[in-house]
Amino acid sequence: MIAVRAGLAYSDAGGRIYFDESSAPLADGGAVRPPRGDELIPAPPGTVPTMLPGRMPLVETAEGKAERRTALAALLPAGYTRLLVPAYRERDGAPTLPLFGYTFACSIEDTLHVAAIKTDEGEDWSPRYFGAGELERLVDERCRRDPDNRVLAQLRVCALDYGCFTAQNVFRERGEAALPVSPKCNARCLGCISELDADAGIPAPQTRIDFETTAAELARIACEHLAGAPGGIVSFGQGCEGEPLLRTPALASAIAQIRAATTDGTINLNTNGSLPRSLRRLIDAGLDAVRVSLNSFRPEVYAKYYRPAGYRLEDVLESVRLARDAGLRVSLNLLTHPGVTDERVEIEAAESFLRDVRVDMVQTRTLNIDPARYFAAVGRPVEPLGMRVALERIRACGTALGNFTHTH
Ligand code: SF4
Repeated sequence: MIAVRAGLAYSDAGGRIYFDESSAPLADGGAVRPPRGDELIPAPPGTVPTMLPGRMPLVETAEGKAERRTALAALLPAGYTRLLVPAYRERDGAPTLPLFGYTFACSIEDTLHVAAIKTDEGEDWSPRYFGAGELERLVDERCRRDPDNRVLAQLRVCALDYGCFTAQNVFRERGEAALPVSPKCNARCLGCISELDADAGIPAPQTRIDFETTAAELARIACEHLAGAPGGIVSFGQGCEGEPLLRTPALASAIAQIRAATTDGTINLNTNGSLPRSLRRLIDAGLDAVRVSLNSFRPEVYAKYYRPAGYRLEDVLESVRLARDAGLRVSLNLLTHPGVTDERVEIEAAESFLRDVRVDMVQTRTLNIDPARYFAAVGRPVEPLGMRVALERIRACGTALGNFTHTH
């Protein structure tokens, strides 16, 4: 183990950040423990420190002053994978934490450090810089060409108000373009970004589309995108919607219309993979690529987070297998969380599936949720081996590991 002298990074109740090199902070990797040196890197550009209101940081030697301090976490930029979450104790009345990827942060030699490793280049997802009014002009021009298209009207809001990159790509005619399609879902994920239970205590960060888009609306946007961005991607199933497989007839028709117009580019589906027979229909219609999301390869952990209605993890894995057998480009969107993804039995379950079904890529995503809420739902690990070990063992299965789909 590499020795490291990490100091506590914390905030006051007003959000001002302080370093105390004399206090040794604890981190949470499923078990609360000191961070190891090989788990810490200087906070990369784009890191956002964030206070955890109503929560006290845990330190190695409890001192009275910790009582007055507020725990601090870091939110990582794209292209990094979190290795530890912050260790904290909730005070009475602590508010529910909004859906972010809370990462352990500390100070080393007066510099903010985070528990993370770089796992991808953020080229396609790095912040975009537009000249003043440039994006607005592109949006206006595109919407004028197809004024009755409700999907474009929705994408206008997503691009301009929410800053969604895949929505912006529709108007910039580059990379991966979003095609939202479904207002409904057959899961109730604890950390769904487009719809949460009324008693969740926090709002969903995005507003789910509230209408059923038609095949013709989708196909018009897709065809123009693939014509303007050769080699580009059009993707059903974005964060602002429910499950696209619930709209299979419309999707099958849209895919057929797109492929009747052009053979260029990639038609991709982001999905929970719940309905293999529906996926089969879309593959037959001409789907090229699929990205299936899951938080675990263990049925009970999957069910506790996804809370699926009418399907099981087995169906999700069946979808992955059939897409691979049909020759699609197949990625897994693995929602990672220290202390869950790196539990020994979880790693073994992942290895068993990935050695049998060779997917093209495992894309790791930080699961955005209050760590305490996630552990309460899925349980704490018996034998966490560390996120580095989990990632290395997934890679050793012969699959590429990264964070995004690259378009060039
Ligand atoms: S599968 Fe997607 S849309 Fe459905 S509840 Fe989960 S995160 Fe939300």
